[in-house]
Amino acid sequence: MNQITNSFGVEYPKIPEKTQCVLSAKAHELVYFENVAHVEGSMYQVKSTSDKDKVYVIDLKNLDDHKLDCPGAKYRGNCSHLRAVRIFKRGEC
Ligand SMILES: [Zn+2]
Repeated sequence: MNQITNSFGVEYPKIPEKTQCVLSAKAHELVYFENVAHVEGSMYQVKSTSDKDKVYVIDLKNLDDHKLDCPGAKYRGNCSHLRAVRIFKRGEC
């Protein structure tokens, strides 16, 4: 049930694939709407989309701090915030 077959007959895992797309779309949206900013050094801030008053401060040298704050980072080891910071750093959107 966790496999999906696309129109080319290729099977792939349903849930992880979908999760990746959602994370990626959210991350690009965060960058596009200027919710990501560089603080200093390896520190970046990302505004939460669900709570307008919340800002995540992400230190790329210490990602464990973000895992205390963000369920996505805690359970998946990745989240739209971390992706958004990487996209922001590359200067893409
Ligand atoms: Zn996060």
